[in-house]
Amino acid sequence: MLHVVPAFSRIGEENAFAVLARAQALSAQGRDVINLGIGQPDMPTPAHVVEAGIKALRDGHHGYTPAIGIPPLREAVARDIHRRHAVDVSPDSVMIVPGGKVTMFMAILMFGEPGAEILYPDPGFPIYRSMIEFTGATPVPVPIREANGFAFSAAETLALITPRTRLLIVNSPANPTGGVTPKAEIDALVAGLADHPDVAVLSDEIYGTMTYDGEAHHSLLKYEGIRDRLIYLDGASKTYAMTGWRLGWSVWPKPLYDAARKLAVNAHSCVNAATQWAGIAALDGSQDCVAEMVAEFDRRRAIVVEGLNALPGVSCIAPKGAFYAFPNIAQTGWKAKPLAATLLEEAGVAVIGGPDFGVHGEGYIRLSYANSAENIRRALERMGQFLTARKPV
Ligand code: PLP
Repeated sequence: MLHVVPAFSRIGEENAFAVLARAQALSAQGRDVINLGIGQPDMPTPAHVVEAGIKALRDGHHGYTPAIGIPPLREAVARDIHRRHAVDVSPDSVMIVPGGKVTMFMAILMFGEPGAEILYPDPGFPIYRSMIEFTGATPVPVPIREANGFAFSAAETLALITPRTRLLIVNSPANPTGGVTPKAEIDALVAGLADHPDVAVLSDEIYGTMTYDGEAHHSLLKYEGIRDRLIYLDGASKTYAMTGWRLGWSVWPKPLYDAARKLAVNAHSCVNAATQWAGIAALDGSQDCVAEMVAEFDRRRAIVVEGLNALPGVSCIAPKGAFYAFPNIAQTGWKAKPLAATLLEEAGVAVIGGPDFGVHGEGYIRLSYANSAENIRRALERMGQFLTARKPV
């Protein structure tokens, strides 16, 4: 009998990967499945970034790099932060990690233990809760509400802080809702955090380049007053369509940096060298590729929102960021998870049930519009036929 530690019975996962596997299995059986489930850009990585990765391999970048990442990439991240947020960070506070997830993994491991409370958005990226549970800490969901445009509420967040709170996780622009929290709300949150100096903050800004309708993304890095306890999470996966390269970066307060570095040494040694050189090309090269991708998502967003609002029993507010729509399906009579499962099996449309992102996700489904406009239209047509013909189970 093997004795795996009990923490592993508490670890969760991302149902989007299970839905992807089922969609692929159905496709392999010859079914025509339209996948609006998975959260990754459907565009290829920009050609100049791919070339930089190939060149790095040809130039012999085959070995370990420093665990914290190569200096020119850490410098490029600092320049990117300056360009986008008008904030100065030292390259020495930047850590290069294999994907956005690794920063949340490290931060939650640093602050999670039995007795500690960690606040996280619900509905939100499922790995937050999973990792909190893994550490034995108590997950405290911060409800994210449609009535609030899926922005987080500073007052509601602050009211959940107790003397046991160690870490607050915020995410804007958000997965799964596409919500963007306005500057005034972030101002209020940061002002309130002054009363809770022992609470660290993890700001997941991986969708920071993707906002619409003139809505600006407002980074928590802009608040000098919390920089000594702010962990900033970003990466190349979404912005540069590089999910498979595994490239992320974080900015750490000085006292935490060395702990993160040691975790990196123990866990993965470094990010693969060629990927790091590709990352420099992505950050230092023209950002037109990002603007084009966001413009394309914006066109699809209009199709998704209009199409969803025309479906019986469905209503959808226009998401202000990321590439997800989070329609309210309560009036269809379906619960979200059976609806998602039946849509996939019977209509060949893969979406994710809201409860896969937390208890406050009931009554919603998530559609990723990282798929062609034509496929999105076909999917909406199928959903319309399905909802008209099929009785809820
Ligand atoms: N944070 C959020 C909110 C995400 O939605 C994702 C991916 O879907 C990540 C982080 C992780 O990104 P990566 O694939 O770079 O680990």
